[in-house]
Amino acid sequence: MSSTSLLAYNSFHIEATAKSIFHLNALDDLFDFKKKYPEESVRIIGGGSNILLTGDIQEVVLINSIKGVEILSASGSDVLVKFMSGEVWHDCVLWAIENKLGGIENLSLIPGTIGAAPMQNIGAYGVELKDVFHSLEAVDLNSLEVYHFDAHDCKFGYRESIFKQVSHKGKYFIASVTLLLSKVHSLKTSYGTIQDELLKMGIQSPSIRDVSNAVIAIRKSKLPDPAEIGNAGSFFKNPVVPKEVFEPIQIRYPNMPYYLQGDGVKIPAAWLIETLKWKGYRKGDYGVHSKQALVLVNYNKASGQDILDLSTTIITSVKQEFNIELEREVNIW
Ligand code: FAD
Ligand code: NAP
Repeated sequence: MSSTSLLAYNSFHIEATAKSIFHLNALDDLFDFKKKYPEESVRIIGGGSNILLTGDIQEVVLINSIKGVEILSASGSDVLVKFMSGEVWHDCVLWAIENKLGGIENLSLIPGTIGAAPMQNIGAYGVELKDVFHSLEAVDLNSLEVYHFDAHDCKFGYRESIFKQVSHKGKYFIASVTLLLSKVHSLKTSYGTIQDELLKMGIQSPSIRDVSNAVIAIRKSKLPDPAEIGNAGSFFKNPVVPKEVFEPIQIRYPNMPYYLQGDGVKIPAAWLIETLKWKGYRKGDYGVHSKQALVLVNYNKASGQDILDLSTTIITSVKQEFNIELEREVNIW
């Protein structure tokens, strides 16, 4: 592996190189980076679990490993905790549980760093980052000035934030994320199969640790481990469509699962893809995972372009059958 290989830094295990790689272990390393590469444009990788490399990167890549956790304040049941952005997200969840702080237990075992979590407002099992988000500090990559963003500034949406929009994309390094966690635990166990899993574990009155363990067990049974099969989790977002689009599909497919949302009807993208028989599809080294139709996989030496092309074919086939345009969730590089 060359010193600029990104193979170890992306969970799809795609072989591609960067112009150069620069490791950030402390925030001040950004000044050294600027001195060394004053004019270079830059990309940031945390855990590399939400990117697809479709070719070599002609820019310097910053690998973020800046660690640190600090309790900023505690008032009544509220506790404000600042995490430096290179902390591994699941370690933050375990830290919260260890310290008896509730709010992020449903987000157990999501790969990657906490610095990337605001990018797409990570979510799972009925909880999103925005539910516990207080603020973040972001460094302007040109001026190295530090900016403070509160939840309103971040414009969080479903797997969305201002940091994915053209105005902010690639312009800021998220340095720290502050969460508002709680000593009083209000558990969310009604989503998906959490309740069933808790019962299977013989638990009637769950703690936040129990909920975390249930989520971990469900995820391990359904999702491919990137250490074994290259993937970046759900490749597509779940579409939320207007009633005019939903109703004709429901007439043709009365058993289609759906969830009413404020702004339309959410249809699981996995159901759309599975209905078109893509689940388990394999061509050479790439395909659609056999247990989870939302997850595209690299079995060994697939290229990013192979996987991107497969995603385009799937988008086209869903559009033809359902008149729904699936959107990619993974960042295409
Ligand atoms: P990376 O892939 O390194 O980066 C993602 C994007 O964020 C890139 O554009 C990158 O440039 C940018 N970025 C990263 N760090 C910073 C920073 N400090 N400052 C500015 N920009 C930055 N996601 C969910 O929402 N819910 C899930 O349940 C979920 N499950 C998953 C399961 C599996 C098996 C896998 C592989 C992925 C899953 N994901 C899920 C997707 C992924 O884990 C999340 O999006 C995660 O937040 C990505 O973190 P990362 O550090 O790996 O980001
Ligand atoms: P699941 O529980 O089989 O549910 C299928 C889909 O239906 C999910 O995508 C979910 O949407 C939606 N859903 C289920 N119950 C719902 C409810 N009560 N209200 C509204 N929507 C509901 O899904 P899964 O694939 O096993 O994943 C479980 C959770 O982990 C989901 O929240 C999923 O988003 C998350 N996850 C995310 C990734 C990623 O890479 N982004 C990867 C794996 C798992 P939502 O997705 O909107 O929740």
